[in-house]
Amino acid sequence: MTLKTQTKSELITELKAKGLRLTPQRERVLDIFYDLPNGEHISAEHVYTTLKQEKVDISLATSYRTLKLLASHGVLREVDFGEDTKQYELIRDEDEPHHHLICVDCHETKEFESSVIYAEAQRLCAAMGAELVDVQVKLYARCKK
Ligand SMILES: [Zn+2]
Ligand SMILES: [Zn+2]
Repeated sequence: MTLKTQTKSELITELKAKGLRLTPQRERVLDIFYDLPNGEHISAEHVYTTLKQEKVDISLATSYRTLKLLASHGVLREVDFGEDTKQYELIRDEDEPHHHLICVDCHETKEFESSVIYAEAQRLCAAMGAELVDVQVKLYARCKK
């Protein structure tokens, strides 16, 4: 899998050009996502707790708003694993969107790609006269743990 994620400074330059004001809190939120290993997804609560530990002055409501804002600017992708809280991940520059396998017991998630799913999604969209923008398949399964 080739990951061509832009660097954080490239992203910041792009966001500023789009007119998004990057407060120190917002930059710290970006740091958290850039420090995450690939395939990790985190919630607004996680962002909030992490920043609190670093003595950053931020409220839970601001954490939620910041993640929503970054998602609306195409920086983060909101993924709903059917839990109480939404999870977020950095949108990577992938050839094809990745999918998630979610363990119904321990809620661990795994990412995978499938060119078959992608091709089928494109075929279905074309057949319905639409252009494919994103495809997210969620497999609910039980891991071997
Ligand atoms: Zn993911
Ligand atoms: Zn499991």
